[in-house]
Amino acid sequence: MSNPSPIKVVDGTTKNPHAIFIPIPLQGHLIPSVALTMKLASNGFTITFINTQVIHHSIMKSSSTPNDDIFEKARESGLDIRYTTVSDGLPISFDRSLNQEQFEECVFHVFSAHVDELVGNLVKGDPSISCLIADSCHVWPSMISKKYKLVNISFWTESALVLNLYYHWDLLKKNGHYTTCDDVIDYIPGIKSIKPKDLTSYLQATNTNTVSNRIMYKALFEDAKHADIVICNTIQELEPRTLLMLNKTQPFYAIGPLFHNKFTQSLVSTNLWSELECSHWLDKKAPKSVLYVSFGSYAHINKHDLGEIAYGLLQSGVSFVWALRPGMVSSNEPDALPLGFEDQTKDQGLIVPWCNQKAVISHASIGGFLTHCGWNSILESIWCELPLICFPLYTDQFTNRKLVVDDWKTGVNLCERNLVERAEVAKNIKYLMMGETSNELRLNTKKLKRTLEDALAVGGSSQRNFDKFLGEVNVKIDQMKGAI
Ligand code: UDP
Repeated sequence: MSNPSPIKVVDGTTKNPHAIFIPIPLQGHLIPSVALTMKLASNGFTITFINTQVIHHSIMKSSSTPNDDIFEKARESGLDIRYTTVSDGLPISFDRSLNQEQFEECVFHVFSAHVDELVGNLVKGDPSISCLIADSCHVWPSMISKKYKLVNISFWTESALVLNLYYHWDLLKKNGHYTTCDDVIDYIPGIKSIKPKDLTSYLQATNTNTVSNRIMYKALFEDAKHADIVICNTIQELEPRTLLMLNKTQPFYAIGPLFHNKFTQSLVSTNLWSELECSHWLDKKAPKSVLYVSFGSYAHINKHDLGEIAYGLLQSGVSFVWALRPGMVSSNEPDALPLGFEDQTKDQGLIVPWCNQKAVISHASIGGFLTHCGWNSILESIWCELPLICFPLYTDQFTNRKLVVDDWKTGVNLCERNLVERAEVAKNIKYLMMGETSNELRLNTKKLKRTLEDALAVGGSSQRNFDKFLGEVNVKIDQMKGAI
């Protein structure tokens, strides 16, 4: 692989490209951001990685060996990764999950001032800094990169299909599909057709003026289009048509799946909750007999649906590991499971607040995954060749469900209608875990796993795209230096 060529700095010494990396302060964005940071640093980059103070605090709290510098071990392994934190504008003790609107208003209006100040100081102290890599969901990357003359690299952690939908927000509005019309959408370049129910939750919202909608519009319809380069955690062969389209608008590189070198372990702590060990329990179970259940790190579920899923699991009789994070219903309601459920299922299931998901789903006893369809969970489940039961709750998860169930045919819906009902839940769990009929799903998942492996292999699409990305970075750095 070609390393990026060193760039000259003012005092005449040479250094590798130095990028500031700013992820979105959420678990599902942090994990691939750290994986990308490690990949870039392994390929000659110097990275200064910036977490918000509250994320740093959560990582420290959940770690069994807290270290003020989460990249210390990575540095000891020879990678040049520096680490610092920034305030998102709110005190650490503020409950962001319970007060989501206030938190998002702050992210929208205050966070950029803190980032601006920190990036300004970093650039002043180190003239070798030449790039800003920011999550595409930030509203300020073009402003900050322009101000400090940095190459603006946008990191999109979700599917290309989802970004393409946001890029065409105006077309959806013009055709009445933003919130109202039910006709199939067949006019977006790069997307053959998609139903309105498969759009992201922001594009289905009836109240279009919420702060989250305003953030997504500013970040993804406006700002990300100004990035010099976009890198995306997807795979060329999974979304060829959409990627062809996105490539016409911007240098756009599908380099996924972004996992740690050792799939189940990382040199860097990224957990926002403490992990509970599941392998001893799983070791006692038959191969492919256990269903893993998780709805991720962010979305909430209502108490009725949670109860129906719980009783559906019970009725199915299938063994399960359920990673049910505290506050899944609300931070005000930590014990949201039906009364007595844990006792009733103590021989059938293991319920933990958080686990090492990649380690759990790699275990031979796991045979399926009931998921909210977060993009990381989908990529990880393909890697482990697990068919899915899909229960999307929020944001891109509805669109990801369409990819899994309708396009790739590697999963089924939890319930066909909006109503979650225990008998249907039990039926679908049994179908996935016991039915011969799910063999086709398993076969399709196996094929996708091969696609991912091929993409990452030498000469594979993700590897080639990554090399092209490195070349493009050099060109952009040269252009930027030339323009100064
Ligand atoms: N995860 C984990 N332990 C858990 C639940 C989730 O390590 O108990 C990880 C999971 O492996 C994935 C990430 O958290 O990498 C969740 O990302 P995803 O995109 O699936 O969903 P989100 O949390 O962003 O909704």
